[in-house]
Amino acid sequence: MAKYSILKSFYKSDEWTSLRLSLINERGNRCERCGKIIAKSRDIIGHHKIELTPENVHDHNISLNPNNIELVCFDCHNKIHRRFGYSGKKEVFLVYGPPMSGKTTFVRQNMERGDLVVDMDQLYSAVSMLPYYDKPDNLFSNVIGIHNLLLDNIKTRYGRWHNAWVIGGYADKYKRERLANELGAELIFMECEKEECLRRLELDEERRYRKDEWAKYIEKWFETFTE
Ligand SMILES: [Zn+2]
Ligand SMILES: [Zn+2]
Repeated sequence: MAKYSILKSFYKSDEWTSLRLSLINERGNRCERCGKIIAKSRDIIGHHKIELTPENVHDHNISLNPNNIELVCFDCHNKIHRRFGYSGKKEVFLVYGPPMSGKTTFVRQNMERGDLVVDMDQLYSAVSMLPYYDKPDNLFSNVIGIHNLLLDNIKTRYGRWHNAWVIGGYADKYKRERLANELGAELIFMECEKEECLRRLELDEERRYRKDEWAKYIEKWFETFTE
């Protein structure tokens, strides 16, 4: 099950074994996904919602936290991890809204490890080694090139990613809907009043020396937004 030996030894540990048994005692022997009775308790799988990695396995708030553990049957577990030819249908989400509306936070909370995330700010960072809020104009054509390549990958469902998230302002309704169509994406609107965006900008530490610039981005988004 686990690729890393550190994870294998976690699954053999007494802490994990006894937590798993106590959760089974507490919650019963029904699969928490499909409701099927699982006859033998050794077939009940304790699945970690936040996937275990060598980095987080020692964090007991993740590895031994009952809220992060789901008791599921073999079939559901394979579906969750899209194994053995279960056609893990790739879902695509286009997350849009004004600057400071919480798009990145939303994606961070809803994505899973193995998802593909396309975000201009992050792409800028990747090729400039600058913080995400500092985007030199002269790199635009290179960054947009990578961005468009990834969008093409999503359109053709190329690659082995699970779900994909495209983050952006997309104020213009026509452009937004056309892109969503091409991507086969579900639109998710991060609704936020202009005053609230400006208030968050005021409180934002990282952008504190670029407030004028970001206030302009916010103004521009609301000027061009079409519902
Ligand atoms: Zn199940
Ligand atoms: Zn699992």
